[in-house]
Amino acid sequence: MGLEIFACTPGVTTSNEFWSKEILNSAGVHAPLTVEVVWRGQELRDLCMTIRQVRIEAGDSDIVVIVPVRNSRVVTDLRSVYTNAVWQIDLAGQNWSSPGWRTFGDVAVDPAMEPGSPVVRRFLSLVLGPSTGGPTSTEQAMYFAAVAALRSDAIRGHVGAAICDAEGEVLAVGANEVPKAGGGQYWVDDSRDGRDRARFGFDFATSERNRDFEDVLEWLIEVGELPEERLAAIRAEVQQRLRSARLPRVLHGKARGRAVHAEEAALLSAARRGVSVRDSQLFTTQLPCHVCLRHLVAAGISRICYLRGSETHELDYRHGDAVTLGESDTNSRVPLITFTGIAPRGYTRLFGKTPDEQRTDEGFWKIFEEAICGQPHDIM
Ligand SMILES: [Zn+2]
Repeated sequence: MGLEIFACTPGVTTSNEFWSKEILNSAGVHAPLTVEVVWRGQELRDLCMTIRQVRIEAGDSDIVVIVPVRNSRVVTDLRSVYTNAVWQIDLAGQNWSSPGWRTFGDVAVDPAMEPGSPVVRRFLSLVLGPSTGGPTSTEQAMYFAAVAALRSDAIRGHVGAAICDAEGEVLAVGANEVPKAGGGQYWVDDSRDGRDRARFGFDFATSERNRDFEDVLEWLIEVGELPEERLAAIRAEVQQRLRSARLPRVLHGKARGRAVHAEEAALLSAARRGVSVRDSQLFTTQLPCHVCLRHLVAAGISRICYLRGSETHELDYRHGDAVTLGESDTNSRVPLITFTGIAPRGYTRLFGKTPDEQRTDEGFWKIFEEAICGQPHDIM
């Protein structure tokens, strides 16, 4: 019996009707399959118990379990028990948890999620059926961008970018990292490590943000708008809120650190080596900031594809004359599009192994499930 768990992140449909239809229509699928939505906020133990019950009811059938998730902790928990049986499905462009390799999904699907979606069908075929072919050039380009991100040691998170020509050949890659004299950015084995973590232990974007906020507080006290005795309480409140995902814009502190951004690093890498990027495509793991976006437009990049990020309205407002959200039907504006397809995490899982190796190691996860549920497997 095979088990596959599809962790659907916010915005991805968990409709039984949709998944039943897609799975039954998927080429090369094992049959029969039982599809069940099982989780609406339970703890891990309840989740394991429910999945276990679904498996018992399915008998010897292969099963797929659809699990709606609302935060990355649930996916981490699922992976800790069911390891390779867990597939994270992200909505294209979704920014539902902190950036980073560990939270990349296995596949990014189109927001519309229409029945018959080519991305969903291909993903299901790769997971449930025999492996069918390798990646698209877009998937490979985004994978290169994600791999480039791993080079970064930036304290606030890792971002990667890859510039490719029309055939998908890589022209340059870049990561967010501090530049070094002579060109390029520091490597871990350089004789002198000038990166933030090694040289300062903090990120300037964060420290300058905090200094600005202190300035505002002091000014409010000076002009008599803030009683000085409230200062400590406000500082404590802000420190608490800084840990939350949502911050006031003034506290974002973006683009004020020492690091060159990934998109800039890729452009500069091409410039150092005399490689033209005109009419090429840029792939990035995060939606570009407006500073990078204007550089990409000026460099002649003809298409920008990003994996994550949702704050497109301001880019549209500022750069709508030169950039258009979504595919463009003319050449007058640069399309800024969200990535759909097999995402960086799924890339190695689906294209890096033989079909036999893709199947779940049942012996491994059954031990964990048994420990969590407190019932031996021989009751099945
Ligand atoms: Zn940027």
